[in-house]
Amino acid sequence: MKISLVSEHASPLAVLGGVDAGGQNVHVAALATALAADGHEVTVYTRREDPRVPERTAFAAGVQVVQVDAGPAQVVSKDRLLPHMGEFADQLAAAWTADRPDVVHGHFWMSGLAMLDAARRVDLALGGHLPVTQTFHALGVVKRRHQGLQDTSPAERSWLEPDVARRVDTVIATCSDEAFELKAFGVPSSRIAVVPCGVDTEHFRPDGPAAPRGDRMRILAVSRLVQRKGVGIAIEALAELVRHGVDAELVVVGGAGDAEHLEADPEVERLRRVIAEQGVTDRVTLLGRIEHEDLPQWYRSADVVVCAPWYEPFGIVPLEAMACGVPVVASSVGGLIDTVVEDVTGLHVPPRDPQAVAEAVGLLLAEPERRRRYGRAGRRRATGRYSWHRIAAETARVYQQLQTGSTVSARRTRER
Ligand code: UDP
Repeated sequence: MKISLVSEHASPLAVLGGVDAGGQNVHVAALATALAADGHEVTVYTRREDPRVPERTAFAAGVQVVQVDAGPAQVVSKDRLLPHMGEFADQLAAAWTADRPDVVHGHFWMSGLAMLDAARRVDLALGGHLPVTQTFHALGVVKRRHQGLQDTSPAERSWLEPDVARRVDTVIATCSDEAFELKAFGVPSSRIAVVPCGVDTEHFRPDGPAAPRGDRMRILAVSRLVQRKGVGIAIEALAELVRHGVDAELVVVGGAGDAEHLEADPEVERLRRVIAEQGVTDRVTLLGRIEHEDLPQWYRSADVVVCAPWYEPFGIVPLEAMACGVPVVASSVGGLIDTVVEDVTGLHVPPRDPQAVAEAVGLLLAEPERRRRYGRAGRRRATGRYSWHRIAAETARVYQQLQTGSTVSARRTRER
């Protein structure tokens, strides 16, 4: 199949760990690569953020990344990209009219918007129905519920996003929690497929070098430094454990720059305050961004990985931890409900509850055999359920169903 992926703000070429560069970049890059490995021809369209990058880059065998000129050729926060989506759609329509793909897959709601607009124009120009499917990665309604006024998404998201969900041929949700949210938008179950994100189980594996560590038990958090990801909660949990005599440290991977250039990150100042208030300055290391290639050694060096977000559309980090054979303490939210199996690969805790995180981590730190058991089960689950090979095959099945027309939406022609 000739497949177009649209990912307006999250390029596979981007550097990970910054405010807007995380799971979606990893997902699009890995999905494209795995689909191409199965013989498909994949083109990823992403907004140009740098005038020096060539229009087309061969990202992997069978995968091209195309820079779309829409708005300034510089990094623009994703919450300010909506005004440029018309221009983005113009470019997509031109590219697809010249060379029609078999299927188009949008990533994030604004890509969906541009994709639908372009697909409608391609249908008018060429006739027929260009099949479109959509993965949201995050839903504005959930973000607003948890972040309230801190949510900087454009107001239009609250009606445009559900509209995209209703107008695409199918929505590929990444977890069951998201599927329920989509039903609440009025998307029929017959047009929702659940296909999770995957993990590179060759790269993230238990054997291999581990980052250096001392005698203290090591808790690891790998996260963009934004408040809702819960790094502050992990710090409070560490302090609680230390008050109970546990000799532990917390290593935090993530941020816009390396350790020396972290100040540029808006959340860092707040986290440093929490660290000082909690009296754990000598036990918390903010490592800054670590290259994806170098991450496995950090997972391997940890006794437990903590993922304590307020909410989480999917969450690739727990999968990476599981693939490295490390037990996970995870808030019971979003994708983490599906990926982390209670008392098998880790422990669930309520969101925004440092005390509960401390208790769960404390239990694991006190029981090496339980940690080993969870670690082995995590590795088995990651390789068995979440290999990109399997995820790409499941995604390709959704594409094939679209081609047979069994899930084609009649709503596309509606103007927005
Ligand atoms: N990541 C990375 N280096 C960092 C911080 C994060 O490579 O310094 C990667 C991490 O390994 C994971 C992704 O960024 O693959 C984060 O994905 P996740 O779904 O957990 O969270 P998101 O950032 O999408 O909210």
